[in-house]
Amino acid sequence: MKIFESVKSIKKAIAKHKERGKKIALVPTMGALHQGHLSLIKLAQKKNYLVVVSIFVNQKQFNNAEDFNKYPQNLAEDLKMLQQNGIDILFLPKAEEIYPPNFTTHIHLQELSSSLCGKTRPGHFDGVALIITKLFNIITPHAAIFGEKDFQQLQIIKRLNRDLNFDLKIIAAPIIRDSNGLALSSRNMRLSKTECEEIAPKIFQILSYLKKQLGQKKNHNLSQLLSEASENLRSSGFGKIDYLEICDEETLLPLTNLRQFTKNTQARIFIAIYLGKIRLIDNIAL
Ligand code: AMP
Repeated sequence: MKIFESVKSIKKAIAKHKERGKKIALVPTMGALHQGHLSLIKLAQKKNYLVVVSIFVNQKQFNNAEDFNKYPQNLAEDLKMLQQNGIDILFLPKAEEIYPPNFTTHIHLQELSSSLCGKTRPGHFDGVALIITKLFNIITPHAAIFGEKDFQQLQIIKRLNRDLNFDLKIIAAPIIRDSNGLALSSRNMRLSKTECEEIAPKIFQILSYLKKQLGQKKNHNLSQLLSEASENLRSSGFGKIDYLEICDEETLLPLTNLRQFTKNTQARIFIAIYLGKIRLIDNIAL
C-alpha cells in the first residue's frame, strides 16, 4: 500500500495508474475504520477497481467542536486493516494540505441538505460537499463508494455529482450491522459497554418493528405510530431524538400518509437520536 500525504504526489501517482489503463474507485472515510468501511472497500475490489481510500477528519463538516475534538482516531489500526485487505493507495492529507490559508470556497446544496440532519446540523452537508468535491478533483476517480448508513449524504453526493458534472459512478453500499442490529459507526467507540450492547441495538429493533407494522396493510396513523416509537426509545434510555421520520428516498421530504408511498415512491424510515452525548443515525428501507 502506498501512502500519500500531499495533493501533488497523489495526483502524480494517479496519473501513472490511469496511463496504464487502471479504473480507480475512491472510498472516502474519516478513519477509525470498521467492517462498514471495509465492506465499501471490498465492493470496489470486487468490481476490479484500483482502490484509493482517503482518511481525513474534515473539520468543516462538524458543527460541534466537541464532536470534532473527540472524533475517534486509530491510525495504527487503520493502517493494519488497510494493509491486510490489499488496498492500493491511501490518501492521508493534513488539514493544511486540504484547506490552505485564505481558503474561501463554499458549496451549498439548496435542496436535500435542509431536511433530516440538515435541520439540526447547519453547515454539515456544505462541509461534506466541499471535501467530496475536493477529493473528486484531486483523485479524479472513475467511481466512488458511499454507504447507505449515511443515506442523506449519499443522495447529496449523487446530486453534486450530477450538478457539477463529475459524472462518476456513485456506488451505494448497504448498511453493515453488528449481530445485534446496531449499525456500525466509528462513533459507537464512544459508547459505554452497556450503551453499545444493551441500549443502542434498540434503534434497529424499533426500525424493524415500524417496518413490519407499515408492511401490514392497515390504516395506519403514521404520526401516532412514530410518536409511540419515540416514547418507547426514550423510555429505553435514549436522549433527544433529532428526528424519526418516514421520507421519500429521492426528495428526503417527510411522507405524512401511507398513500403517498404506495406507488412510485421509495420510502425509508430515518432516525437521528442521542445516547448520552453521542448522536447516532440509522435508516431502513420500506
Ligand atoms: P465515515 O468514516 O463515517 O465518514 O464513513 C465513511 C464511509 O463509510 C461513508 O460512505 C459511510 O456511509 C460508510 N459507512 C460508515 N458506516 C457504515 C456501515 N455501518 N455500513 C456501510 N457503510 C458505512
